[in-house]
Amino acid sequence: MLKFVKIGQQNPPKREVPNRKNNFNEIYDEFIKEKAGEQASRCSQCGVPFCQVHCPLSNNIPDWLKLTAEGRIKEAYDLAQSTNNMPEVCGRICPQDRLCEGNCVIEQSGHGTVTIGAVEKYITDTAWKEGWVKPIQVNNERDQSVGIIGAGPAGLAAGEQLRKLGYQITIYDRYDRAGGLLIYGIPNFKLEKFVVERRTKILKESGINIIQNFEVGKDATLEELRKKHDAILIATGVYKAREVDLPGKDLDNIFPAMDFLTASNRKGLGDKVELFDNGRLNTEGKEVVVIGGGDTAMDCVRTSIRQNAKSVKCLYRRDKENMPGSAREVLNAEEEGVEFVWLSSPKEFVGKGKVESLIVNKIKLGEPDDSGRRKPEIKNNSEFNIKADMVIKALGFDPENLPKLFNSKDLQVTKWGTLKVDFETMETNLPGVFAAGDIVRGASLVVWAIRDGRDVAESIRKFLEQKKLKTSRVA
Ligand SMILES: Cc1cc2nc3c(=O)[nH]c(=O)nc-3n(C[C@H](O)[C@H](O)[C@H](O)COP(=O)(O)OP(=O)(O)OC[C@H]3O[C@@H](n4cnc5c(N)ncnc54)[C@H](O)[C@@H]3O)c2cc1C
Ligand code: SF4
Repeated sequence: MLKFVKIGQQNPPKREVPNRKNNFNEIYDEFIKEKAGEQASRCSQCGVPFCQVHCPLSNNIPDWLKLTAEGRIKEAYDLAQSTNNMPEVCGRICPQDRLCEGNCVIEQSGHGTVTIGAVEKYITDTAWKEGWVKPIQVNNERDQSVGIIGAGPAGLAAGEQLRKLGYQITIYDRYDRAGGLLIYGIPNFKLEKFVVERRTKILKESGINIIQNFEVGKDATLEELRKKHDAILIATGVYKAREVDLPGKDLDNIFPAMDFLTASNRKGLGDKVELFDNGRLNTEGKEVVVIGGGDTAMDCVRTSIRQNAKSVKCLYRRDKENMPGSAREVLNAEEEGVEFVWLSSPKEFVGKGKVESLIVNKIKLGEPDDSGRRKPEIKNNSEFNIKADMVIKALGFDPENLPKLFNSKDLQVTKWGTLKVDFETMETNLPGVFAAGDIVRGASLVVWAIRDGRDVAESIRKFLEQKKLKTSRVA
């Protein structure tokens, strides 16, 4: 260990731009065993490991780095999976530059962070290849059941934790495939779909019942599910796209980001997608403008490039330093030919029937706001025009109106529309109904959804044990 002084930082090779622009495959090649070991050996085994402190799952990073450096990959995997239900997903798409790697002591000392994400991906991919990832063997089946609404990372992580304890788990999801945003939001070039599908397959083989095409609110009310199960978890994510309320907003060819990304992901999965096939949700040959500066915007611009758009511009009202998206993803987008129009905000969409251009205001940054980021202010007389055949709105997501949707007007929400929970237990105001993931936090990260899923599983366990105790006393 401690080899950071002699060995420089190295990530797995990133494919050359021409080779990644014409397909949707992941852009990083794999580490070979020797490289993973060598890079892991750069870790200085800190007494206070800031990588671990800044990991939402408190992953035991220094220990699995040491095991990797020693070639003990199976043990490294066992450790990595003991705190994380989807380490192969986090290794690929966690914004490590803002979490573990951004806080690595070696990074802070100017030597370049240990490449934690790439090593995590290496050990977990090796585990899948070697057959070390196995379905759960339940030794002690219990008769209590939990109904989980939503098969995204929060619902799946909670389901796995509870199944390990022997509970009967049914997950209901309105999509036709499990995985939530991992399957229909995040594009293949960040997370290939076989990675999600093999994980959900193993959960099904563990005895978790996943019912697809089942929308709570339409196919059953929340109350009906409460009668059917001993406890309920709501893990439905946030899907209401934020709107741009500007003149011309109803012109044709202006789309919400999720419509565009879902169509593209479905094509990648081999589905027939009429709106893509007839060209409406396909950017080929078009001048595309994406509005927004987060991870969703980055996924839209890079998907547009791969669909062979004529040009792709990203309009963002702050500058590069104040962008919410991962710096790594911005760099990838720049390399792939995306043009960033910093400090600019749309004023009007122009066109006859279809959008043809945008009138855009220049922005200057004022004093920092409550979030610490400098506030965007419009510059007087700064308008300019940008040509566009297609506009994609990636301005973030809000929760849907769950009390209305679930026909459960007593279910309490916060002023943002997220579900109100007791932060100790993650239980909503309805007894035995819990909530986790984006529907509680607002749009967040996969690693936080997994963390919530694990925490809520523990609360549900306590609730079910209490419930069992009460019923046995009555009997
Ligand atoms: C385009 C995009 C890119 C992203 N990129 C990253 C990234 O690179 N890294 C990262 O860490 N995070 C990323 N995120 C965020 C991350 O995907 C989410 O934080 C995470 O998926 C939230 O998990 P969840 O389980 O709470 O919800 P979701 O993943 O949204 O899953 C919710 C599930 O609930 C189901 N559902 C909803 N309503 C109902 C209903 N009424 N009945 C039945 N089922 C229902 C949905 O079909 C869905 O399957 C990205 C998000 C987006 C949109
Ligand atoms: S902070 Fe960096 S050097 Fe320290 S234990 Fe974590 S990975 Fe190793």
